[in-house]
Formats: sequence, C-alpha cells, structure tokens
Amino acid sequence: MSLTDATHDPALQSWVASANTADTDFPIQNLPYGRFRVRGSGEPWRIGVAIGDQVLDLRLALDALAWPAELMALLQPLAQGDLNALMARPPAERHGLRAALSQALSAGDDRAPELAGCLVPQANAELTLPCRIGDYTDFYTGIHHATTVGKLFRPDNPLLPNYKWVPIGYHGRASSIIPSGQGFRRPIGQTLAPGASEPTVGPVRRLDYELELAIFVAQANALGEPVTMAEAEAHVFGLGLFNDWSARDVQAWEYQPLGPFLSKSFASTVSPWIVTLEALAPFRAAFERPAGDPQPLPYLDSVANRAQGAIDIQLEVWLQSAAMRAQGLAPQRLSRSNFRDAYWTLAQLVAHHTMNGCNLQSGDLLGTGTLSGPQPDQAGSLLELTAGGKQPITLASGETRTFLEDGDTVTLRAVCERPGARRIGFGACSATVQQAMA
Ligand code: MN
Repeated sequence: MSLTDATHDPALQSWVASANTADTDFPIQNLPYGRFRVRGSGEPWRIGVAIGDQVLDLRLALDALAWPAELMALLQPLAQGDLNALMARPPAERHGLRAALSQALSAGDDRAPELAGCLVPQANAELTLPCRIGDYTDFYTGIHHATTVGKLFRPDNPLLPNYKWVPIGYHGRASSIIPSGQGFRRPIGQTLAPGASEPTVGPVRRLDYELELAIFVAQANALGEPVTMAEAEAHVFGLGLFNDWSARDVQAWEYQPLGPFLSKSFASTVSPWIVTLEALAPFRAAFERPAGDPQPLPYLDSVANRAQGAIDIQLEVWLQSAAMRAQGLAPQRLSRSNFRDAYWTLAQLVAHHTMNGCNLQSGDLLGTGTLSGPQPDQAGSLLELTAGGKQPITLASGETRTFLEDGDTVTLRAVCERPGARRIGFGACSATVQQAMA
C-alpha cells in the first residue's frame, strides 16, 4: 500500500496546465476524490477528482471515453455520486483506477481532447460531504493536546494511566458532520459558571475548534472479525481535514463519567476532498515511541508500522473575524503542527477499533483527535493556545480572542512536502460561526 509508483513520479505533468503550478494542492500526483455538482445547477451529485484548479467530472468522463470493463464497473457508481462503492473495493482495484486516471490526465495523453470537456472549474463547483458517513468515532491521538488539556481539567493528574496503552476514543454522531463552507449556529448548552452552585442554560461562551484529520474507512470488516495490523491499512481509503467544533464550558460540566456528549455533537466540519492513502505514500515516516514510554502491545505492533506507520502531514489553522473581513484583512494563521507527532498510527487505530469484533463500514469516519505539536504555539485548539481562556491572543485587527466569537471563520489546511516528491495539499476545511438561536 505504501509503495510509490509511476503515479508519484515528481516529474509527471498534466495536460491540465493549472495542475503543474508549484503552489497547487492538486497536482497529478494527488488525485483526491470529492462529491460535487455545478454550482446553482441543482443537478444530482457526482464524484469528481481535483486536478489543479479544475474538477474532472467522472459522470462525464464515464461517457467520454471507452474505458475497460473493470474500470467501467468502478466508474459507474462514482458517476451516480456514490463514493462508498469505490471505498468498499479491494486496494488493487482502487489502485487500478488511480493509475488509469493518472495516465489519462498525463501530459501527452491522446485522450486529452475528450477529457478536457469533462473539466469543471473548481470556482464553479459546489462541494458536499464526500461520502455517506454511517458512523463517526473520535480518537485522542494528540498526546501534547491530551497532556495540556488534562492539566487544565485535572492539574494533578494530566495524562491518565491508560493513555500510553489504549488508543482512547469515543463514539460521536455522524448526523451533525457538515461540509466545509456550511455555517452553523453557536449552540445552546447547560454550563456551570466558575464558583456557581447551580448550572445555567444559554448560548455557550467557550466555543472552540479542534484541528484534526478525518480517516475514511475503505473495506468493511464483518462483525466479530478483528482487523490485524497487517491488514489494517487496506481498510483505510484516505484522509481529509476535520474540525471537531467543541463547547468547552459544556464539556467541562458534562464529561464525567461517560465522556463528551452535547459539547461535540452540534457540528463537525469535514473538507470536501479525500486524499487517498496511496497519494500519501511518499510522505510515510517511521513510528517511534519516546524513550521510557511503553512499546505498543503486540496487537498494535508490526514491523511495517514501526518502519513507516506515521505520515508527515503539515497542518495549519487560520482565523478571520468578521471585523477582519470588513477591514479587508487576510485570515491570520494561529498555529501549525504535524500529524507525525500523533501518538498512534492509522493502522493502530483500525486494529484497536476492531479488536473486540466491532465492524467498521465503508465511509465511516475516524477523527484523529486534536493534533497539537510539542511547542505551545503548535496547539490545535484555542483551549490550549489561550491556556484555558486565561491568555488572550491578539488578532491583526487589534481584537483579542480567548474563544470563538460569532462571525469568526476558521480554516484548516494541510500539505505534504518532502525532497524528491511532488508537494500535495488537502485544500481547505472552513466554516463560520453564526449567532445562537434567539
Ligand atoms: Mn475531537
């Protein structure tokens, strides 16, 4: 799965000119999938592939060329807007489609004239959730996040004793996962103000973002049949950006003893493009435990995972307030971190999730948890950046923030860069906080 091939060749160029610019997130080496239609058309959704500043419309591409029968079978559901059908196919078939799309989009390919008519400018595309997300689990793999937040909630006991043994997670709600660009209202919640003896109800005051990655499940596993480490990555389709909006004041009051509930289930924003695990092959990195930490138990360990279980993905959070927008000020970067710093790998999350026989289904979303780096300015949430709301940050407009205000737009971005590989990106995951219901 993690081997590179001709589709990763950094010298490969596309006949789509915008895919060859140095700063595009979507060169021909990437080829992420998303669900879209022409903006304002009301047409049925179909699956497309981002290439430069265009989308290759697979509904049009299905009819434009004489594809081999095995590719037709993969393309037909995609033309109907069904990405889950491709996710359910074995890795070799998914790879076959990637290789065919790469070839058809390559500079010099003689099918360019036919396929050029299947391009839609991304500026004219309306994007929605990339697949049907049946279930959503949120993990807690950011050990720096877990430690910093643990200190705020439990100063004398920040990292609980299970953390370095168990990939901690909880079951979230898939129904409130929304596509990038869709706003959401500040939720109403029950909170206990500091020093108060009884809780009150109202718009939440400590609204936060969480910088996460979404892991999309490929093939399902049957109920009762765990996925081993050796098989685990075959069950991962790809990754997107994921903002797990959080109401910290609700969370602090509700989270014991069963964990997050209404503090998390009002909205989570996912990016439109799924970058496949294959596209990420050049950016794999060794998985290492800090000296003195326990090694993973055997069911969470493998030679391949140690050698290249991690992925080097650079992550960023950007904020633009309503006042900044009004003044023409660009969004401001709040922090940067890297997925390499996560405590558990994709394979370990899949192996752990299924060790009890739990059945994952194609299109399920596993959140990584907030991905903070070891430095204070690498924090993936405002809770950490502002030390629990005690140290406000200052924006370019002169405004300050401890938590999010109405009108704030939060945008997550990610790129992979490495010498000898073509840089690829994830696009943007963005949403604006709207005022609470009166
Ligand atoms: Mn989360």
